[in-house]
Amino acid sequence: MTLNTEHIRGQFPVLHQEVNGKPLIYMDNAATTQKPTRVLEALSAYYTHDNSNIHRGAHTLADRATRHYEKTRGQVKEFINAAEDEEVIFTKGTTEGINLVAATFGRKFIEKGDEIIISTLEHHSNIVPWQMLCEEKGAKLKVIPINEKGELLMEAFDDMLNEKTKLVAVVHASNALGTINPVKEIIEKSHKVGAKVLIDGAQSSAHLDIDVQALDCDFFVMSAHKIYGPTGLGVLYGKREILEAMPPYQGGGEMIKEVTFEKTTFNDIPFKFEAGTPNIADVIAFQKALEFVNEIGKSAIRAHEEKLLQHAMTQLNDIKGFIPVGTADQKVSVLSFLINDMHPFDVGMMLDAAGIAVRTGHHCTQPLMGRFNIEGTVRASFSVYNTKEEVDKLCESVRKIAKLKNK
Ligand code: PMP
Repeated sequence: MTLNTEHIRGQFPVLHQEVNGKPLIYMDNAATTQKPTRVLEALSAYYTHDNSNIHRGAHTLADRATRHYEKTRGQVKEFINAAEDEEVIFTKGTTEGINLVAATFGRKFIEKGDEIIISTLEHHSNIVPWQMLCEEKGAKLKVIPINEKGELLMEAFDDMLNEKTKLVAVVHASNALGTINPVKEIIEKSHKVGAKVLIDGAQSSAHLDIDVQALDCDFFVMSAHKIYGPTGLGVLYGKREILEAMPPYQGGGEMIKEVTFEKTTFNDIPFKFEAGTPNIADVIAFQKALEFVNEIGKSAIRAHEEKLLQHAMTQLNDIKGFIPVGTADQKVSVLSFLINDMHPFDVGMMLDAAGIAVRTGHHCTQPLMGRFNIEGTVRASFSVYNTKEEVDKLCESVRKIAKLKNK
């Protein structure tokens, strides 16, 4: 199926501007996606008509805001195919979701001598919380290595798993290289030794169909801002029995059943993990982002992005001095590269001068960059609203930049 990109682009006002005298070509989607008009309108409509604190008001506005907020929970449940609404917890983002699991599940269930497995591909947010936990508990952090293409070495993973493994936390799709990991296999193998599994879905959720029940993962985390939704909002999915066994994260309003100065009893899930006034407006607007994705469908989105990626690679591989970083067989639409020995930042500045927005640097994956003996890369990441013509302009600019050095 071919997407009507013109119609799609019409829904993203931010794309229709010039930067540095050139039409904007936004290719920094792995960092954050742009927001369609309906999300912007939902934010404005909420503050214009419904603004109210949720769950505790006795008045009409509070009731309306509560219903809209809880409706989003139901739609997220559908989006990831969770079994129940209560398994969906709103957070600030992927980072907070992982920290929540480390601080609650980790605090209660990880003990001295236990082992946690992550991979070389992880974002800092799926490394540092586990390092902090391991240090506190006297547990051990193990890291699945990768090959030159940026794919996990699954035999090494098999060798790492044992009865001491309590948690495996891996990224579904790498933000730095695009590699899609075999998470189903990882989950199955981890469960055989009794370990729980957290999947970092920050980069997969906008591109791949997510079915947490089919995957059978214990936790799944994602960020709304990478799925055409607002910033400052994320989702933690957890299986009911695990969430119920976990202690609360933050203490405060909403997460309690009853408070006396002697003792507090805690609310049921999901509220046990949503202390304080949540991000009501952004949660409500997120519905519209999910609606946008559902209207087009993930398989159509992925097919479009895959075509762009192939189109780019065919042209770029012909350019002398173009060095791709991460060439996994299974990838989302992330294109990491270097040009000759040029600093990624310099390449990024030249692309910006041509109106092309990319990300440069270590992409919050310093250990992964270290594995390739580089400090960083240039990263172009495609989304549903990017076009073949834009990809051509990227390739043309890369060709020009490479020529500067090849002279
Ligand atoms: N994991 C991955 C794979 C990511 O790409 C990101 C965002 N770059 C994060 C975690 C952190 O997400 P956030 O900053 O939205 O919390």
